[in-house]
Amino acid sequence: MAMNCNGSEIKMPEIKFTKLFINGHFLDSVSGKTFETRDPRTGDVITRVAEGDKADIDLAVNAARQAFDNGPWPRMSGYQRGRILMKLADLIDQHIEELASIDSLDGGKLLSHGKFLDIPGCANSLRYYAGAADKIHGDTLKMSGEFQAYTLKEPVGVVGHIIPWNYPSSMFFCKVAPALAAGCTMIVKPAEQTPLSALYYCHLAKLAGIPDGVINVVTGFGPTAGAALASHMDVDAVSFTGSTEVGRLIMEAAAKSNLKTVSLELGGKSPVLIFDDADVDMAVALAHTSIFTNKGEICVAGSRIYVQEGIYDEFVKKAVEKCKNWVVGDPFNPQVHQGPQVDKMQFERVLKYIDIGKKEGATLLTGGKPCGEKGYYIEPTIFTDVKDDMKIAQDEIFGPVMSLIKFKTIEEAIEKANSTKYGLAAGIVTKDLNTANRVSRSIRSGVIWINCYFAFDQDCPYGGYKMSGFGRDLGLNALDKYLQVKSVVTPIFGSPWL
Ligand code: NAD
Repeated sequence: MAMNCNGSEIKMPEIKFTKLFINGHFLDSVSGKTFETRDPRTGDVITRVAEGDKADIDLAVNAARQAFDNGPWPRMSGYQRGRILMKLADLIDQHIEELASIDSLDGGKLLSHGKFLDIPGCANSLRYYAGAADKIHGDTLKMSGEFQAYTLKEPVGVVGHIIPWNYPSSMFFCKVAPALAAGCTMIVKPAEQTPLSALYYCHLAKLAGIPDGVINVVTGFGPTAGAALASHMDVDAVSFTGSTEVGRLIMEAAAKSNLKTVSLELGGKSPVLIFDDADVDMAVALAHTSIFTNKGEICVAGSRIYVQEGIYDEFVKKAVEKCKNWVVGDPFNPQVHQGPQVDKMQFERVLKYIDIGKKEGATLLTGGKPCGEKGYYIEPTIFTDVKDDMKIAQDEIFGPVMSLIKFKTIEEAIEKANSTKYGLAAGIVTKDLNTANRVSRSIRSGVIWINCYFAFDQDCPYGGYKMSGFGRDLGLNALDKYLQVKSVVTPIFGSPWL
């Protein structure tokens, strides 16, 4: 039995759901194949999960199509849908511990983050969209001449959601919750590294009263199940979160099939700009959080830290000191700050980038090595002497690797911040309001955090500029991805108000 460092027992979740969820039933895949999902703390197999492919996507799309064309979900009032979403939120609240521990086991995420942030956030997201479901409406328009129009907001239809592994629960609900509120039916393809919590949510959705066929989950691999979903002729929209490379494939698949609408939340290489007037301790803490939270496996991670020359040396010294007190270890242990990378592939990819950084001539100040005897743990790593054109300053590493870069002027900081193909997020640390305003309007990215980082909430939209994608998750903007606008026009004669 595993124990915490404080002697208390670590409770491992029981894995109850490992089959595809189609039309309200847990099913084996058509091929009968299964795949392993592994514990990143050890590399050991947790369980085997049904491996869906094109045949299973066809079944799931058919179920979602029937549920959309003939079922009650899109025809219910928004109020009724909202009540069911509220019920699902309550059920999630009742299972927080179990759900958080599934994501920790499957993805190496800190249990404390799951318990206090991710899983309650999923329930809150459902409540937010439950409240929005009966407020979706069009406009009345006075057209020129003797016509008037009204617009209807209708659900877009059958939606495919393809999601990554870094936030298995939050990603699931930032797609599913607004799509449900809009009245869509859907197929979710979770990442192959972290398929378990999505299946648990299907069980809860059924208990909450979401009708069969409305939510379907097909676990499996990207090039088979994911590609079949993106290219399916009967899917009306696809909402994707993942890498920029795969985002391009999703768009191609949509273009070559039925021109379904596409939204893409992709990679990032987000800058944090720290100005001379900043409180250095606060800035060090913010920069540290921005890159080492969730072991750097965050699309908005602050992986490029730009520090103005006046405080640069002090900042570097303190940033290194902070890493010494950062505990890497078992994510179930409450004393630990950073768990293992999600899998062997990601672990090796991060170590490869650390090697590239050294070969490119950056100076490794701290970290840079794996830690522990087993599992996929990597030390928090800091490079200085990083040049803007180095691969470690341009590529998304998706691991605990900070690149530190010095700048002199505000103009230089803005230019450097914008010097990547990505545009997802940015941080600004300054006490000067003018600097904060000028820089936030000059950086081309979807989210700007001023004197904070990772301040997410269900009502604040986020998404990318440039090659970080398009479309927004969260907030009321997310509903737009799942709604069509229909204009209904009639002549109007004898109106007193032309
Ligand atoms: P990935 O692109 O490899 O995979 C994402 C999903 O796409 C998985 O479900 C995968 O199975 C599927 N997929 C893979 N190949 C496919 C194909 N050919 N057709 C259809 N689907 C396919 O990304 P990942 O490694 O799981 O996640 C890490 C990436 O996700 C990083 O680039 C990160 O920045 C990005 N991300 C972005 C956001 C955001 O909101 N912008 C959030 C989280 C993660």
